[in-house]
Amino acid sequence: MNPYFCSDFYFRIYKMNKLTVLSGIRPTGYLHLGNYFGAVRSFVKMQSDYNCFFFIADIHSLTTHPTPENLQSGVKQVLAEYLACGIDPEKATIFIQSDVPEVSELYAFLNMNAYLGELERTTSFKEKARQQPDNVNAGLLTYPVLMAADILIHKANFVPVGKDQEQNLEMARKFATRFNYMYNTEVFPLPKPYTFDGKDMIKVPGLDGSGKMGKSEGNAINLYEDPKEIRKKVMRAVTDSGPTEPNQQKTEPVENLFTLMKIVSTADTVAHFDELYNKCEIRYGDLKKQLAEDIIAFTAPIRERIIDILQDDSYLAKVARMGAEKARESASKTLNEVKEVIGFRRFF
Ligand code: AMP
Repeated sequence: MNPYFCSDFYFRIYKMNKLTVLSGIRPTGYLHLGNYFGAVRSFVKMQSDYNCFFFIADIHSLTTHPTPENLQSGVKQVLAEYLACGIDPEKATIFIQSDVPEVSELYAFLNMNAYLGELERTTSFKEKARQQPDNVNAGLLTYPVLMAADILIHKANFVPVGKDQEQNLEMARKFATRFNYMYNTEVFPLPKPYTFDGKDMIKVPGLDGSGKMGKSEGNAINLYEDPKEIRKKVMRAVTDSGPTEPNQQKTEPVENLFTLMKIVSTADTVAHFDELYNKCEIRYGDLKKQLAEDIIAFTAPIRERIIDILQDDSYLAKVARMGAEKARESASKTLNEVKEVIGFRRFF
């Protein structure tokens, strides 16, 4: 059945027997290749076969204290970028986290069963505390609890996220298990990670030689990026002084460039540069030029669509309104069940 042409009633029936998927991205900057290959391409792939909820995590983004203007423009940008990447609001529910207050209520409940020790031990908390030592707020500490609420409120079965979110997803499973056990219920299914090709969760590296590509790391290539800027960034990427013997193991910065190439270039291109590397004949300048062109070939059509969609405020508002309605309907159903289980229902 093509959901484009069916009424709301048939749309619901069409969705009813499908497993549920949820994932979100913070509106803290432009979407980059890491967001796309770690998460968004799975969103696009899954939208026809699953009951999908994809959201813009504006409450999560408050941990870094954006100005109201930055928050507003960030939300609009990510919404346009989701659509430009091919997420179809007729197939998937696209919504903004703060439009669904039920999530914050579940977050409050789940916080009661989340312990300081386990929250302090999460890698993402330790990393953020290191990155922003002057702003180690409680929202950072309880980030995995809000993420669990995001997932559990829609009873998601699958969560397509990158490797960096593996531990937080494990925490969501832990909180769900704990809640189910505590109240002797099965209200929450246990969410599983989803990867694009059924293999390991991926980590797209940055251009600075080490670590993952990230919005706040200053090492990202954005989908919205101007081709000239992409060329500049790639040509500046960190490498080394070149292999000195055949088949030498690649250093991390060089391995990272190859990883990016595997993501955006053809297998033949990767094999060609691999062979040159193994014969000690590689010129990193050539590799970078090729990599930049392959990235541009991938991002340019998305960039054009982003530019078009950003001009259409009424379409963006319609998508957000439609998504909020559907997300609230699903969220309030779960919240009512949870409240009943906890004992909020009164008999007087
Ligand atoms: P964030 O930008 O931190 O809100 O992340 C949004 C989504 O993109 C999450 O599913 C992340 O796992 C994914 N993601 C972000 N950076 C990367 C990366 N460098 N490699 C793979 N996935 C990533």
